[in-house]
Amino acid sequence: MTSGDAGRTDIKGMTLPELEAFLSRWGKERYRARQLFRWIYQKHAGDFAAMTDLSKEFRNILADSCRISGFPAERVETSADGTQKYLFRLEDGEAVESVLIPDEGRRTLCISSQVGCPLLCGFCATGAAGFRRNMTSAEIVQQACFAAKRLVERGEHLSNVVFMGMGEPLLNVPEVSRTIGILLSQFGFGLSGKRVTVSTAGIIPELLPFSLGHPVSLAVSINAARDDLRSLLMPVNRKYPLRELVAEMKRIPLQSGRKVTAEYVLLAGVNDSPEDALALSRLFRGAMIKVNLIPYNRHETSPYRAPAPEVVDRFRHVLIAGGVQTITRERRGADIRAACGQLRGQVHKYGTL
Ligand code: SAH
Repeated sequence: MTSGDAGRTDIKGMTLPELEAFLSRWGKERYRARQLFRWIYQKHAGDFAAMTDLSKEFRNILADSCRISGFPAERVETSADGTQKYLFRLEDGEAVESVLIPDEGRRTLCISSQVGCPLLCGFCATGAAGFRRNMTSAEIVQQACFAAKRLVERGEHLSNVVFMGMGEPLLNVPEVSRTIGILLSQFGFGLSGKRVTVSTAGIIPELLPFSLGHPVSLAVSINAARDDLRSLLMPVNRKYPLRELVAEMKRIPLQSGRKVTAEYVLLAGVNDSPEDALALSRLFRGAMIKVNLIPYNRHETSPYRAPAPEVVDRFRHVLIAGGVQTITRERRGADIRAACGQLRGQVHKYGTL
């Protein structure tokens, strides 16, 4: 925040209906909100002066009482495989990370929704750093604004967004919802729902209402096929146990290309045996739910290791033989600690990034 910002209303992060309602107080027509949306999210305008199709008078009113927040990445790291990690410093000094993953025609941005995470999954670096606070929609969407602008400058465009960075999106539903509204709006990022994926550790009461309210793809972190093991790896399982979670996943309506996936992080000697694979296949057999296998990415705060490639293969074959569609996620950006579960963000406090 710069000194003149105090008391100004931040336009960034409002949904289109919210912006329409906000502008109506000045008697402004609805299409004015669409114009502002386009300037902010499609043309990446950082101030009102640039918005030449708005009258000078209206631009002055906006400049006097509103602002468009935004922050650049404080640090950009590029992996040998082209993956980029951005470190963003928020206005209150906290820090979060996002990862841009180029893959053939796709440009996928993995974004954070909380500073830290309260769920304390034992294998995840974000959890190890503790929880600070929820992010605002302005902060969440800024990660996409920053990446999209850089991509446009080199003739590319942001094609997919996954909420798989720091934090648990379903513990920050209002701000995540606003962000999705902006990502999907044709006047905002214009992404289709199947190109936006929200990944959750399984906050059962939120799952179905959220999926009914947002036509996006969902990924649920399963990570163990037995309650005792899942509770050990993911303490949230004590509150929201596996069977209820899987039953709820099966109730998510699949329409307009939306996918529901089960994520399974493979930990050597912990959840990677053929018996584990068989138990997992029993949970998802016959359901329209794909299993996404993620070989573990190491970080120094955790004792876990990835299984050998042949163990991953064996696990995959048991699932496929059990009638479950399975994909193995390719490891990206590990050399810059940008792979799944390696984001921690809090460089000013931990100094080890
Ligand atoms: N809180 C959400 C989103 C963040 S985690 C969730 O739990 O889904 C995104 C994914 O990364 C989850 O599937 C999680 O199980 C996985 N993950 C976490 N740490 C990992 C690590 N070190 N290696 C591989 N995957 C990891």
